[in-house]
Amino acid sequence: MKVLSVNAGSSSLKFQMYEMPSEDVLISGLFERIGIDGSYTIKYQGQKVKKEVALPTHKDAVQLLIEELKNYHVVENLDEIKGVGHRVVHGGDKYADSVVITDEVIKTLEELVPLAPLHNPANITVINVFKELVPDACQVAVFDTGFHQTMPEENFLYPVPYEWYQKYGVRKYGFHGTSHKYVSGRCQELLGKEDAKIIVCHIGNGGSISAIKNGKCIDTSMGLSPNAGIMMGTRAGDIDASMVLYMKNNAQMTVEEIDNALNKKSGLLGISGVSSDSRDIEDGMKQGNERCILAQKMYVRKIVNYIAQYYVLLGGADAICFTAGVGENSKDTRRDIIEELACLGIKIDPARNDVRGEETLISTDDSTCKVYIIPTDEEVMIARDTYQFATK
Ligand code: ADP
Repeated sequence: MKVLSVNAGSSSLKFQMYEMPSEDVLISGLFERIGIDGSYTIKYQGQKVKKEVALPTHKDAVQLLIEELKNYHVVENLDEIKGVGHRVVHGGDKYADSVVITDEVIKTLEELVPLAPLHNPANITVINVFKELVPDACQVAVFDTGFHQTMPEENFLYPVPYEWYQKYGVRKYGFHGTSHKYVSGRCQELLGKEDAKIIVCHIGNGGSISAIKNGKCIDTSMGLSPNAGIMMGTRAGDIDASMVLYMKNNAQMTVEEIDNALNKKSGLLGISGVSSDSRDIEDGMKQGNERCILAQKMYVRKIVNYIAQYYVLLGGADAICFTAGVGENSKDTRRDIIEELACLGIKIDPARNDVRGEETLISTDDSTCKVYIIPTDEEVMIARDTYQFATK
């Protein structure tokens, strides 16, 4: 059975088509700069083809996607696509699990737009386009927030007036849930232990850390929005909220400008003044750039603080897992983080750590806690849930 996994951003659309249940990837691609100018890349049988083409709307991208599926003979007829799974950023506290998308679900997603003003509208647009163009497929929503719904109240509430939560839904939701679920599930398999205590470090351009016990999320570093927790590529993460009012009053900035700076001009980029990309920071460090050295120190510090916090919360840990762009690829960042945890008896093996993007145990044999690299696979999780519903 053919199932499509779709991840739509405000100006992009990523897809993978799977043969299920074997989970073979038949074709994948990325449409970029939608609404700006447009280009797309298709990956088929190890070959990558990039094309520049006008993509005024998400609908144009989906139409082209369907055309390419036919061009490559991945499908001859659209009714061969039995399921379309959509990554939806915000499910609020309405959805702990994936759901079949009905008109009522779309209505709920629209009600949740204030919580994810940049992301949910793009998700809704793309869902509607697929419903129109592939009407017979089972459409499924897989939420970024879903896995974190098991957090206890004392961990998801902010110590602010309780009415903010009751009336406005102000609470921690957490994101990257599909990745945290996949990586912790895989780690449980590797450990051969269902009740394992696991700390997952999803560190890419965005980043979040989660504490998982018995396969359930107990706490996570992102909050009401993705701009909470650790320092990221361009996001500040946790800050003193009073900074917003202070900058408004003293720097003649509007709240929107401050929010934009905290999301797009902070983090590694803000401190280094060089780049949001950890590869550029590493290059800068090699050239002795002081601000890159400082940015990396702060980046590592914020991650270590969360690992330490979650180590205590879980009452120790069986494993720490690294995933996403930085976690899978930057051996220096992994080493710097684990070296800071020496007082807990956690040790990294330099030879084992000398890998990129491969599922590997990187701790020493005498480390008190196992440390793994586990490449994330959010797309396959979306395809699995979609297949479950499509075969019901
Ligand atoms: P996103 O949050 O956009 O999904 P990714 O998980 O794809 O991000 O991570 C992208 C980031 O991964 C890049 O910005 C870069 O900082 C980092 N990265 C990718 N490859 C390497 C590498 N070889 N060494 C260090 N960092 C890397």
